[in-house]
Amino acid sequence: MSEIIKIENLIFEYIKEEEEKTRAIDGVSFSIEKGSFTAIIGKNGSGKSTLAKNVNGLLIPTEGVVYVNGMDTKDDSKIWDIRQSCGMVFQNPDNQLVSSIVEDDVAFGPENIGVAPAEIRTRVDEALKAVGMESFKTKAPHLLSGGQKQRIAIAGAIAMKPDCIIFDEPTAMLDPKGRDEIMNIIQKLHAEGITVVLITHFMEEAAKADRIIIMDEGKVVLDGSPVDVFEKRDFLKSINLDVPFEAELCARLRKRGIEIPKEVITLDEMVNYLCQLK
Ligand code: ADP
Ligand code: MG
Repeated sequence: MSEIIKIENLIFEYIKEEEEKTRAIDGVSFSIEKGSFTAIIGKNGSGKSTLAKNVNGLLIPTEGVVYVNGMDTKDDSKIWDIRQSCGMVFQNPDNQLVSSIVEDDVAFGPENIGVAPAEIRTRVDEALKAVGMESFKTKAPHLLSGGQKQRIAIAGAIAMKPDCIIFDEPTAMLDPKGRDEIMNIIQKLHAEGITVVLITHFMEEAAKADRIIIMDEGKVVLDGSPVDVFEKRDFLKSINLDVPFEAELCARLRKRGIEIPKEVITLDEMVNYLCQLK
């Protein structure tokens, strides 16, 4: 596998008035492999959104380099190529929808990069189908639920035919049903080959990724598979991150002498494993 995102010694500082600086990213390096599913977790203010915006060129590094498909985000002439190959979906769907009709909204990105009208129509239909919103094509986005709006925002990202989509806490404002729908779509997109970076503060969502990167105070403090990361319960608690319910339950059962293999992570795996015990 080759890398689609490469971050080298990234430092990002927000400059406020009176020359006051906030260092939001403090020396981060890692790569994301094509086709992988990575979750990024960290408490509020740890730098997750700043990192994501540095990847798709909404912010430019103070120091260090970010490459997307080999293109340096500092290169102005590549900015549209970068945004086309690496799309972003944000937390608040209301801030992402720009048109008064669903299909126009999904067409907005491709129109901006000059995709031919016939091709746009195909892409809009396919993207709406991928998120299960094809029957809402001619509806007004403001009449939809939060989860439906978020699905339209995702369709907009899909219509750009990206290699990678960064989801920045896409379920944070949704109810449990909306959250499940969005997670199902994200998993489906990954299964179809899109590289997924999911920023979330829900550990259960992160458990679905192949890799979890944990951020704290602008730094990467842990990077590994869900199995490896959830094992470090004391460390996670020390930086105020909740260990998933399943991991906590596993740890308590183990303490009482019930052996549970390391690979049992999700609730389903746990139920299946416990039910087959004699
Ligand atoms: P997260 O997404 O993990 O909550 P952010 O990337 O939003 O973290 O923020 C990281 C740090 O940068 C925080 O200290 C935050 O206050 C600061 N910050 C974020 N956005 C801005 C901004 N537009 N101007 C100044 N400081 C900011
Ligand atoms: Mg954020």
